[in-house]
Amino acid sequence: MSQFPTLEKALKHYFGYDSFRPGQKQIVQQALQNQDSLIVMPTGGGKSLCFQLPAMLKKGVTVVVSPLISLMQDQVEALRNNGISATFLNSSLNGWQVRHREESIRNGHTKLLYVAPERLLSEKFLPFLDLVHHQVGIAGFAIDEAHCVSEWGHDFRPEYRQLKLLRKRYPDLPVMALTATATERVRQDIIQQLHLQDPFIHIASFNRHNLYYEVRPKAKSSYTELLLQIRQAKGAVIVYCLSRKSVDDLTLRLQRDGINVLPYHAGLSDEERSTNQTRFIRDDVQVIVATIAFGMGINKPDVRLVVHYDLPRNIESYYQEAGRAGRDGEPAHCTIYFSYGDIKKIEWAIDQKSDEQEQMIARQQLRRMIDYAEGTDCRRTIQLSYFGEYFAGNCGKCDNCANPKPVEDWSIEAMKFLSCVARCKERFGMNHIIDVLRGSKGQKVLQNKHNELSTYGIGKDKTADDWKFLGRSLIHQGILEQSTDGYAILKLNPLSWEVMRRQRQVFLAIPTQKKETQEEKN
Ligand code: ADP
Ligand code: ZN
Repeated sequence: MSQFPTLEKALKHYFGYDSFRPGQKQIVQQALQNQDSLIVMPTGGGKSLCFQLPAMLKKGVTVVVSPLISLMQDQVEALRNNGISATFLNSSLNGWQVRHREESIRNGHTKLLYVAPERLLSEKFLPFLDLVHHQVGIAGFAIDEAHCVSEWGHDFRPEYRQLKLLRKRYPDLPVMALTATATERVRQDIIQQLHLQDPFIHIASFNRHNLYYEVRPKAKSSYTELLLQIRQAKGAVIVYCLSRKSVDDLTLRLQRDGINVLPYHAGLSDEERSTNQTRFIRDDVQVIVATIAFGMGINKPDVRLVVHYDLPRNIESYYQEAGRAGRDGEPAHCTIYFSYGDIKKIEWAIDQKSDEQEQMIARQQLRRMIDYAEGTDCRRTIQLSYFGEYFAGNCGKCDNCANPKPVEDWSIEAMKFLSCVARCKERFGMNHIIDVLRGSKGQKVLQNKHNELSTYGIGKDKTADDWKFLGRSLIHQGILEQSTDGYAILKLNPLSWEVMRRQRQVFLAIPTQKKETQEEKN
């Protein structure tokens, strides 16, 4: 390391960058001290550099575990283009190629060796590693996509669990675990499963400064809007749809309108999928219309627009999918087209699941997603709060901050709503409360004698949708609780009582388009 006066000089020398991204320098410093570490950074945050630069500065080979062959090849190719001696070993190589690469590693010509976990742990490979360690030295291990060790992550891979074997075999070599999955549960799992010792932990902010977030109502005119967005995008575009059929339909329609576009979904042959993906990455086509199957492991830094033409299922996947925009740090745009009809489609899909627990989790996650889509707060605040990160708002780069919607005082309505929850003894869900407010003669209302309550029928002046909108906003603003046991029972909290005692006002930003929202019919 002594050949460089500063880490910045080394960074410039090997990678051509002038400065570190937030967090990178400290992580590199720690890695040079040979300490275990856990690095949590959003996609595009610059995780790879955190082990690549130390690999260049340390003696011996750094072994990188990576689950996806395509990702591995991408990274190695990019490194080689920078003149860095990196190589990978995976099932795409023939025996001769493997032997050739192994030899070059043993001769000390390789700084970074990428392997898939199943190969790393195979009986043939471990003795080879010992040999390498003996002859040229192993500098340490980097475990990419480390959330794969956790059943709580979105991509559990049992073979990742076996990686703790490395710790046993090489107790003195440092392990760096990297992931973009933000939840506390997964972090703890990684530390335990991989037996990290007193790790240095770096958790980056998940705020993606360069992304503009917006939600537009899905209406008849949405297709024209989308077309315009694509034409103005000046770069690559990903459009996500829920079903294969909508992918095919939309692709066809865009093609007819002269857009250079290809589809991507599980119904296509492997070959077709991989060709379409490659052509997109190489900028042969501008737009890919895809189901969520697309994107895992593609690394295209210059995507300028990600559109969700249907509502995403949950905030975490939305964050990951939208996050494929602007990985180069340049401005990029993320749009959701939202209609109430989409909720029905997702609910239907949830109903098809056989596992009750899974259904319940999926419903809660969908609820949060709808809150996001309907929300009038800063989109960043809502997203980041989902990951346990506080963000003050006013980002200036989301639709709600750029064009705040006019707010109305709904304190009286809120008092009516909350009182009704109280009168019903906090034992019912949203729809029942609304039935009581609107004076329904339904069986459930009559059976419970809720037609005798003082709040019965006091909300006839508003539609059920209005009340629903208010109810959701109250939950979103933390003025009302909803049980998470699958029954979604409404409960009061201290803020609810402040409203009922006239100590707190309730403002709603009424989306003007709410009532006009009409689903596009194809
Ligand atoms: P992640 O693995 O966290 O998703 P990557 O390591 O692929 O992110 O990095 C994302 C992009 O940022 C890549 O194009 C990479 O070359 C670039 N990058 C990383 N660090 C820096 C830096 N210090 N300066 C400029 N660009 C960087
Ligand atoms: Zn904002």
